[in-house]
Amino acid sequence: MEWTRGHVLGLGSSATVSAAISTTGEVFAVKSVYMTKLESLQREQHFLTILNSPYVVSYKGCDITNEDDKVMCNLMMEYMSQGTIIDALKRRNCGRFDEMVISSYIRQVVEGLEYIHSCGVVHCDIKGANLLVSENNVKIADFGCAKWVSESVPFSGTPMFMAPEVARGEEQGFAADIWALGCVLIELATNSSPWTNATDPVSILYKIAYSDEIPHIPDMFSRKAKDFIAKCLIRDPKERWSASELLKHPFLTKRKNDKNMWTSSPTSILDQDVWNTIEVPPSMGSHLIQQKCSSKSLRPRVQELACDSENPKWKMDFEDQISWLVVRSNGSGGGLVSDDEWW
Ligand code: ATP
Repeated sequence: MEWTRGHVLGLGSSATVSAAISTTGEVFAVKSVYMTKLESLQREQHFLTILNSPYVVSYKGCDITNEDDKVMCNLMMEYMSQGTIIDALKRRNCGRFDEMVISSYIRQVVEGLEYIHSCGVVHCDIKGANLLVSENNVKIADFGCAKWVSESVPFSGTPMFMAPEVARGEEQGFAADIWALGCVLIELATNSSPWTNATDPVSILYKIAYSDEIPHIPDMFSRKAKDFIAKCLIRDPKERWSASELLKHPFLTKRKNDKNMWTSSPTSILDQDVWNTIEVPPSMGSHLIQQKCSSKSLRPRVQELACDSENPKWKMDFEDQISWLVVRSNGSGGGLVSDDEWW
C-alpha cells in the first residue's frame, strides 16, 4: 500500500505515532520504530493480527520504509481521532469530572478486556495512555507488552499500574489487567498517578508488592463507583473480580437514559441532555462553547401537561422526581435509598 506520513499524533517510549493517508484517501495511524527497537512492535503486530473486536484498535498492515537514510518499521492501524481517553475526557468535560461519562467509557474498556482475556491474551500495560477514543468509542491499544496468559516472558508494564503479584514477580495474568483498570479509574478522576506521594518507581513497586495498601479511591466518586474500583483493587488476584463479573456491576449496567448519551444530537429543547450553544464574539476568539443545562428528559412532563390542559398538574409528584429502591426491610418499615444515592 502506498501512503504518506502526516503529522505526529503522539510519542511513546519507543515509537512515534503519526497520521497517514493512503493513495486511495484512507486516513490511518502509523506507529514507527527504528530497526533496533523492533521487538515490541513485532509483538504488537502479532496480537493485533489475531484480535478482532470493536473494543480493540484494528490492524491495517505493516511495512518497512527508508526515510532520511533510516530504516523504519511501520505498523498501520485504525486512526483514533480523539487521542487517549484522558485527553478526550479533559476536552469533553472542560476539565470537570463526570462519572456518567467515565462509566460509559469504562464499560467499553471492560468489554475489550473480557474479549482479549477470552482469547487467552493479557494486555500487561493497561493505563489511560493506552486507551484511545474516536467518536466516543474507546478501544484498547498498544499491545507491545501483551502476552499469552501461559507464556513465560519477563514481566512488563508501567510500575504505577502494576498489580501486587506482578510487583512481587509471581505472576502476570488476567487479574493484573483488572488491577490496572482500577488504577485507570483513579487516573481519570484525578488526572494524576494512582499512587500519590510517589517518589521513585522502585519505592512504589516495593509498596505495591509488600504493603497492605491500595491506591486512594477519590472521595468524588459515588458509592457505586467506589465499590467497582475496590473490586478491581483487591490485592489477592484470585479474589479480584474478572472482566465478566465487572460487566454485571451496577456501575457499568446500562441505565435507561444511557442509550442516547453519545449517539444522538438533541432534536428539540425537550430532549434529554439539552445543549446550549453560545457563540463567542470574534473579539474573544471564534470558539463555540457548549454548556450542558439539563440531564433529565422534559418531554414526558410537557406531554402530560399538554394532554390535560384543562386541569394542568403543575406540581410534580414526589415519585416523579426520584425513583425509590427498597434496599433493606427489617419489619419496621425498612429503609429506602434513592437510586441516585449510589451516584
Ligand atoms: P509506550 O510508551 O507505552 O511504550 P508506545 O511507544 O508503544 O508507548 P503508544 O502509546 O502506542 O506508543 O502511542 C503513543 C501515542 O500516540 C499515544 O499516547 C497516542 O497519543 C498516540 N496514538 C497511538 N496510537 C494511535 C492511533 N491509533 N490513533 C491516534 N493516536 C494514536
